[in-house]
Amino acid sequence: MIQIPLSSPDIQQSDIDAVVEVLNSRWLSLGPKVEAFETQLARVAGVKHAVVVNSGTSALHLGIKALGLNPGDEVITTPFSFIASANCLLFEGVKPVFVDIDPHTYNIDPALIAQAITPRTRAILAVDVFGQPADWDSLQSVASQHQLMLIEDSAEAIGARYKGRPAGSFGEFGVFAFYPNKQMTTGEGGALLTDSPSLAACCRSLRNQGRGNGKGWLQHQRLGYNFRLSDINCALGISQLARLPKMLAQRAQVAEWYNGLLASIEDIYPLQVRAHNQVSWFVYVVRLGERFTQSDRDTILDQMRQRGVQCSNYFAPIHLQPFYREMGYAPGDFPRAEHVGARTIALPFFNRLDKDQVCQVVEALVEVAGVERSS
Ligand SMILES: *Cc1c(COP(=O)(O)O)cnc(C)c1O
Repeated sequence: MIQIPLSSPDIQQSDIDAVVEVLNSRWLSLGPKVEAFETQLARVAGVKHAVVVNSGTSALHLGIKALGLNPGDEVITTPFSFIASANCLLFEGVKPVFVDIDPHTYNIDPALIAQAITPRTRAILAVDVFGQPADWDSLQSVASQHQLMLIEDSAEAIGARYKGRPAGSFGEFGVFAFYPNKQMTTGEGGALLTDSPSLAACCRSLRNQGRGNGKGWLQHQRLGYNFRLSDINCALGISQLARLPKMLAQRAQVAEWYNGLLASIEDIYPLQVRAHNQVSWFVYVVRLGERFTQSDRDTILDQMRQRGVQCSNYFAPIHLQPFYREMGYAPGDFPRAEHVGARTIALPFFNRLDKDQVCQVVEALVEVAGVERSS
């Protein structure tokens, strides 16, 4: 039987050598690899500063804190994302106010934002879902009209571009994330990207127990965390980053194979990409047609897995997660996000997936879903 995983990190000998080199140096944390990785990440995002931390979630959390968002403030965001993009607000007592999505790109719909703004609204946090940039021009115009800050969760979008401008460069800050299923990995890790020197300095202090820059190991200026990323992780990141263009090209190739094969299949829809967007393919997600229910989708997932093809639902909307429901959210609140969330399937997707495997996945999906090939 075939066995195709959902994702798989691309680790090569050069990655292993880079990690071993740091181990041999005995300088395992707060060393030269951190600075070098930050310099290179800032370049990728086209911003002045990158601050690396132990996860993408930590990067979002520190950014929210450093912007001075406080309990009682509201931030507008999307329910169709990974849970961290709303949790980072809850960590600081900030209320996530969800706004429904564009049914084609699955990104937050800027046209629905104005009606969700209240006197407590401070910011809009948009997510570049699945590596496709959000509608940044429209977001910027709503934000400036209502004097709100903009925040970019670009954790899924390293290397993507919106009208030529890199993901991670929009708003007060952007973030990258390096968990093993992302486009590139450091094992665990994340980064905050910003043009603001004061925001970067504040996050550097917050990640390192609130220490002041050069003020000594036992001088703490503020309540901080230990969100540091080690030199071991950063060495892996530098080594991976050197291959990023190649890895993104491989992923784009795999996405193109899927798109090509699915073009002649009824009732299964690939992601719609806006002409001005250059996607950095994070996952490959298809949506089933209207006639499929959520339980049809879940049966398809089970049957695909039984055939050795690992698949997943992606995303279950945030407002329907158990502890968000306890806050009063309920089914029906954001119908577009729910409609999409009930019908999406993430197919196996990683750099070295070959064309035969992509064909096998599509074959299995066509059979299991019982869909027709159009002539
Ligand atoms: C992966 C991801 C994060 C968080 O990254 P971690 O490194 O897993 O903490 C945040 N937001 C989105 C949209 C993500 O996909």
